[in-house]
Amino acid sequence: MGAGSNILFKDESYEGVVIKLTKNFSNISILNENTIVAGSGVLDRTISEFAMNNNIGGLEFLSCIPGTIGGAIRMNSGCFGREIKDVLISVQVLDKTGKVRTIPYNNINFSYRKCDLPKDLIFLSASFKGEYKEKKKIEEEIVYLKNKKEMSQPTQVKTGGSTFKNPEQKKGLKVWELIKQSVPSDLTFGDATISPKHSNFLINKGHATYSDMKKLIDFITESVKDKTGVKIDLEIIIVD
Ligand SMILES: Cc1cc2nc3c(=O)[nH]c(=O)nc-3n(C[C@H](O)[C@H](O)[C@H](O)COP(=O)(O)OP(=O)(O)OC[C@H]3O[C@@H](n4cnc5c(N)ncnc54)[C@H](O)[C@@H]3O)c2cc1C
Repeated sequence: MGAGSNILFKDESYEGVVIKLTKNFSNISILNENTIVAGSGVLDRTISEFAMNNNIGGLEFLSCIPGTIGGAIRMNSGCFGREIKDVLISVQVLDKTGKVRTIPYNNINFSYRKCDLPKDLIFLSASFKGEYKEKKKIEEEIVYLKNKKEMSQPTQVKTGGSTFKNPEQKKGLKVWELIKQSVPSDLTFGDATISPKHSNFLINKGHATYSDMKKLIDFITESVKDKTGVKIDLEIIIVD
């Protein structure tokens, strides 16, 4: 796991090994002009800030995404029309036989919030391309994007971000609209509830358990299916 911002873990003990890449995978440097290499534990906002300080534009959107580079590659994270696939050059991975190899971006199929790299690969580092842009302009863009995000999504609350993916049909309703139409906005299970600012953001008001969150998720999934006929899929990853 990276920062765990897209993962919902069960409350009981977990029968397995959890590998979290942090300090030893947090190096960040410039490889050559407008190319950045970052360890997979580097936070998205850190790479965005690093790019800004080096007059490299194109990675501003990453300032709005909580989490690490590793998580962003696995999830093909993105916002405001840009995704990690748009700036990725290659990713260095460790496979389960202990071999380290580098995979160029054009050997990876990215789609909405996913990539087709085998689930058992551990991402170690990645390189990213940007283009020259004045620091001041980048700074302005980051402030603009952060404000935009703050206006539409809850901040400073316990949440996993967007819980469900938008349905594939581009012309249909967005998932937050489907939820709004299908469930009461004050629906709660224990301390698990729906954000009044964005109905696809589920919130832990304090001491919500895994079971509270799961009941809320299941209730929403079923209600949306019953009321609108649309089957919605999870964006967050549940480990149970
Ligand atoms: C408030 C909030 C707002 C959000 N807004 C957005 C948004 O605008 N756009 C968006 O796309 N997402 C958004 N998210 C979701 C989340 O931030 C992203 O999915 C993020 O990229 C996850 O990164 P992470 O490091 O936390 O990954 P984790 O949640 O820790 O893991 C996610 C997945 O990546 C895998 N993974 C992580 N690191 C590695 C590694 N080194 N090697 C192999 N696999 C790895 C994990 O196994 C897991 O399958 C938001 C979340 C929150 C809480």
